[in-house]
Amino acid sequence: MNTNQEKLKQRLILIVEDEEDIVKLLSFHLEKEGYLVASRGNGREALEFAQEKKPDLIVLDIMLPEMDGLEVCRRLRSNQQTASVPILILSARNEEFDKVLGLELGADDYMIKPFSVRELVARIRAMLRRLEQHQQPAKVMETEEILSLGGITLYPEQHRVVVRDEERVLTHKEFLLLHLLMANAGKVLTREMLLDKVWNYEVEVDTRTVDVHVRYLRQKIEPDPANPIFIETVRGVGYKFKVDRG
Ligand code: CA
Repeated sequence: MNTNQEKLKQRLILIVEDEEDIVKLLSFHLEKEGYLVASRGNGREALEFAQEKKPDLIVLDIMLPEMDGLEVCRRLRSNQQTASVPILILSARNEEFDKVLGLELGADDYMIKPFSVRELVARIRAMLRRLEQHQQPAKVMETEEILSLGGITLYPEQHRVVVRDEERVLTHKEFLLLHLLMANAGKVLTREMLLDKVWNYEVEVDTRTVDVHVRYLRQKIEPDPANPIFIETVRGVGYKFKVDRG
């Protein structure tokens, strides 16, 4: 990764901790890694900061003045603007930190004090990497070429689909879905990719929408929709158009 890319991706990390030594130590190491770092020493100010600046990740201590870290976590998760920010919880060994509770409240990771700074930085890096992968736009091929596979022919420009010489009437979404699957035949497309490309992040749409439309699509193109030969379900991931081997 070159310097320019790093600059573009400079991430803001909010440290919520009232122990100054820890804040200093963490800030030093995270800044050295190229992150922007901000800190707040109490829960209420941390919430205000998070809503205003939308940090990319929050390191959240449990023991805080005014409002404890678990309450901060709960409020971050229930606010739409901060609901998805990754949270790493810090907890002292002598605190009765219920890890399950922390994770139930929506924390993504946790570390017990005293922690190794190297380990903490590594975990933050990993969390941000996951975030980036998630945020990357789907890379799926699109083409205006006529596609013909296994007896299905798709004409992108005419918006037509012919299955074994029979014209099939598809809705716009079904057509886009089939087009993407055929253009990427043999590759698994995740539900998120399909959602991104076909629904373009329309509101009120979730990944189950993809399943529903695949079901409709199968009813229109598969000889036996219960035993699909064209669109394969890849359990827990998404869908794949089986390559025509004939
Ligand atoms: Ca503390």
